[in-house]
Amino acid sequence: MNYYIGIDIGTTSTKVVFYNQSAKIISTATRLYPLYHDLPDEAEEDPDQIFESVINCLAEVIKKAQVNVKDIKAVSFSVQQHSLMAVDKNGKPLTRLFTWADNRSEKFVGNFQKTAAAKELFQRTGVPTHPMAPIFKLMWLKESDPDLYNRTSYWIGIKEYIFYKLFGKWVEDYSVASSTGLLNEKTLDWDEAALKMTGISRKQLPKLMSSTDKIIGIREEYALKTGLSRKTAFVLGASDGSMANVGVGAIDEGTLAITIGTSAAIRSIVNEPLFDSKARVYCYPLLPKEKWIIGGPINNGGIVFRWVRDQLFDNITEKGLKNQDPYDYLTNLASKVPAGSHGLIFLPYLEGERAPIWDANARGTFFGLNESHTRADMVRAVLEGIVYNIYAVMITMREVTGNTKNIMATGGFARSELWCQMMADIFETKVSVPASFESGCLGAMVMAQIGVGEAQDLSIVKKFIGSVKTFNPNPNNFRRYRELMEIFISITRNLSKDFTRISDFQREFQN
Ligand code: ADP
Repeated sequence: MNYYIGIDIGTTSTKVVFYNQSAKIISTATRLYPLYHDLPDEAEEDPDQIFESVINCLAEVIKKAQVNVKDIKAVSFSVQQHSLMAVDKNGKPLTRLFTWADNRSEKFVGNFQKTAAAKELFQRTGVPTHPMAPIFKLMWLKESDPDLYNRTSYWIGIKEYIFYKLFGKWVEDYSVASSTGLLNEKTLDWDEAALKMTGISRKQLPKLMSSTDKIIGIREEYALKTGLSRKTAFVLGASDGSMANVGVGAIDEGTLAITIGTSAAIRSIVNEPLFDSKARVYCYPLLPKEKWIIGGPINNGGIVFRWVRDQLFDNITEKGLKNQDPYDYLTNLASKVPAGSHGLIFLPYLEGERAPIWDANARGTFFGLNESHTRADMVRAVLEGIVYNIYAVMITMREVTGNTKNIMATGGFARSELWCQMMADIFETKVSVPASFESGCLGAMVMAQIGVGEAQDLSIVKKFIGSVKTFNPNPNNFRRYRELMEIFISITRNLSKDFTRISDFQREFQN
C-alpha cells in the first residue's frame, strides 16, 4: 500500500492529513498560530512559526501512522493565497509574512483603482485591484519603506519559504504565483509591465513550476525531524481555493464550489482563462494550459453568524443550552421562521466586502424591520443575507462562466441542514455536501498522487469523495427569495455613498 500526505497551510492554522492511496484517513494533526495586528490594518504571521507547524504536523502524522517510511510516496500542499515576505540573499526573513488580510496598502490601492492602468493590469493578471494582492503591497512598500526595498534580495510567499528551507530552491506553482498579481495569465510568465510597476526584477522571484511538478531530496535535518525518507517526493500543490475545489470534486464546468467558513468563497473550474470585463471576479491558472479557476473571495461568511452568537445572544448559555452547540440552537430558532424572514433583509457587510461589491467601507444593515419582527427573524435574515451576497457574486460569475448546474458546499455552515437548504432555495440549484473531511488536504493529496503518477488526472477525486448529502430546491420558496434578492441588490447599490460616510464617521469617532 502507498501513502500520501496533504498539507493545508491556512491563515490561522496548518492542518495535515495522512492518507492511504484510496484516500482513507490514517492520521491527522493541526497547529494553530497567531495573526499579528500590532498596527491598524496590519495582519502578519511569523513564517518560522508556520514552517515549524508544518514540520511538527508532519512528524506527528507520520509517527501516528506507523507505516514503513518507504511507502510514503509524496507530500503536497494547499496554501493560503496572496502572502508576501522579504528575504535577504541567504533566505533570512527581513519581514514577517504579510497576509491577504493586511490592508495597509488600502489608500494606495484606492488611488490606483481609478487609473486605466488598473484595468489593463487586471486583464493581464486576473487579480482584482485590492490590498490583498502582493503586487499592491509591493507598490505601497516601495514608497513607504524604500530602505527595506533596497535590502531585499527575494520577494516570496510562504510556500517558497518552506520549499527553500527544505530544499534550498526558490520555486512556486502557477496558481499561488498568479495570486501575487505579477503573473501574466496568458504567457504564464512574470508580467514585465507588472514588474516595472513594482520596480522589482524577475531574479527576485521564484522559478515557476506546475502544481504537479515534484522536488526530491529534502535536507537530512528535516528528514530526521519529520521521519520522512529523503526520497519522498514533494509535489508543489496549489492555492487553497483551487485545492478546496478539487477536494470537494467541483472539477467540471457548471459545478460551483461554495465555502462558508469564517470568510466565504465561490469558485468554479474552467478549461480556458476567462476574464470579467469589470474585474469583479478573479481568474487563476490551476494546471497550466488545462484548468483555470474563476471565483470571488467574500469577507462576510460565518464570521457574521459568530457575531450574532456573541453580540445578539450573549446570554445564550444561561438559557440552559448546556449540551447544545450554540450554532445549532440559533439555526433551530431560525428554522421556526418562514423563508424570507417576514420581509426582513440583512446586508452582511460587517467586514467591508470584497466580491461582489469590492468596497472596504460597506457596513451591515437590517432593512424592513417592523415591530412584529423577532430575534428569530433576525437570525434567519442574517443567514439569508450571507447567502444573498454569495448569490450576487454568482450572478457576476455567471456572466463569465455560464450557468451553474450544481453546487458543492463546504465549511462550517455545511453542518447546518437549514443553511444548506436555504442555499438550494436561493440559488434554485441542487446543493451537495460531501462527507469527506478537510477538502484542502484531500485536494493536495490528489496533486501528490498525480505528481508521482499514481493518478492520471483530477477525476480520481470522484472516487475518494464518498457519500454526499443532497439538498434539492423547494419551489415554494423560490418566488419569495427572487423578490427579496432584487431588493437586496437594490439597497446595496443605493447605500454605496452612505457606506463611505458612515465608515468615515466610525473611524473618526472610534471612542
Ligand atoms: P474556518 O474558516 O476557520 O476553517 P469553519 O469552516 O469551521 O472555520 O467555519 C466556522 C463557521 O462555521 C462559524 O463561524 C459558524 O458561522 C459556522 N458554523 C459552525 N458550526 C455551525 C453549525 N452547527 N451550524 C451553522 N453554522 C455553523
